[in-house]
Amino acid sequence: MALVVMKFGGTSVANVERIRNVAAHVKREVDAGNKVAVVVSAMAGATNQLVAWVNEASQLHDKREYDAVVASGEQVTAGLTAIVLQSMGVKARSWSGWQIPIETSDAHGAARILNVPAGKLRASLDAGEVAVVTGFQGIEPESERVATLGRGGSDTSAVAVAIALNADVCDIYTDVDGVYTTDPRIVAKARRLPKVSYEEMLEMASSGSKVLQTRSVELAMGHGMRTRVLSSFVAPADMQPVSLDNLDTIGTTVCSEDEIVEQQVVSGIAYAKDEAKVTLLKVADKPGVAARIFGPLADASINVDMIVQNVAADGDATDMTFTVQSAELPRALAVLDAAKSDIGHFEVKASDGVAKISVIGVGMRSHAGVAARMFQALADKGINILAISTSEIKISVLIDAAYAELAVRTLHSLYGLDAD
Ligand code: ASP
Ligand code: MG
Repeated sequence: MALVVMKFGGTSVANVERIRNVAAHVKREVDAGNKVAVVVSAMAGATNQLVAWVNEASQLHDKREYDAVVASGEQVTAGLTAIVLQSMGVKARSWSGWQIPIETSDAHGAARILNVPAGKLRASLDAGEVAVVTGFQGIEPESERVATLGRGGSDTSAVAVAIALNADVCDIYTDVDGVYTTDPRIVAKARRLPKVSYEEMLEMASSGSKVLQTRSVELAMGHGMRTRVLSSFVAPADMQPVSLDNLDTIGTTVCSEDEIVEQQVVSGIAYAKDEAKVTLLKVADKPGVAARIFGPLADASINVDMIVQNVAADGDATDMTFTVQSAELPRALAVLDAAKSDIGHFEVKASDGVAKISVIGVGMRSHAGVAARMFQALADKGINILAISTSEIKISVLIDAAYAELAVRTLHSLYGLDAD
């Protein structure tokens, strides 16, 4: 017998018929004697609609009320999932985040989970129920108001619930059957990775792979929570119920690096197309300038990704380039404009037709030359590199978005990732 957390994303619960399919996956586990907590997202598109309504009501809205509205999508699917399970003869009860209560920080719209008391969920499971929990939300204890975790946050809810319950595995059911070496819609020869390390998954998630929310991977890594990515579109009867000795036979298991025997130098290629590049020309080259540029951006919660600063040719003025999410570009430019008197002289050039391509693999720690091969392969295709950034296990380049797919395909072959 195992204790399993099963998380179902928006496409898996997109309508009542799909929710029946989800319930059949859950029933399979219950019938096998497993204890199950379920975490659900809102129906596909529902959260986008809620966000659109909030913005229509007022662009400058109170974030607490934003949360009051956008948290509602998951309440619908949690209730419906419990109803469908009950109709199949499976004991089930839905739980909103605040009822558990999943305690969060007060950063409404992008809150962090601080604590998940296991008591009520445990009691529910011990009573033989399936506990169905709303993803994406919790409650900020001081104000006792609902807080949401940022888009894609249900993955994080699932991992947090799994950690609280000390589950054997956290299964993330989605519309793909695992994590691939790259996006299979771009590279037909992409391969499913049977296992991927937490660190690689973290880099993939923060480099544009949308399979898992970045924060969920961080959390799983911090607690060593074995997390699997599985497809809910496989017929429920065609999957074996979870048991502790068959965990790694399907999907992708995200686990610790030393569990992965055959390690490739490069495990995956990620890309992000929604990047914008900002260049500040002729900023003064003296102490404190970078802080005066990036401080106000941080205060406005604008995430800055790559940063490149040139040496000042004349020892006086320099150019500074950085990237932000395309959606944040107008706000970033407004923040810089407001900080102009502080920063001193500069001219701005901004463009949003850029893409970030990242090559990721823990094998890079012990292999030299991975970056050099990457740059040569891109050069051979005539692709110009606009900026470079690296970590111990990742190399990212910024290029013209028009070449994104060519670059991904080229690098996928280069590092021997193509399926036979
Ligand atoms: N429904 C939320 C969103 O669309 C959370 C999630 O799906 O994980 O972002
Ligand atoms: Mg998701």
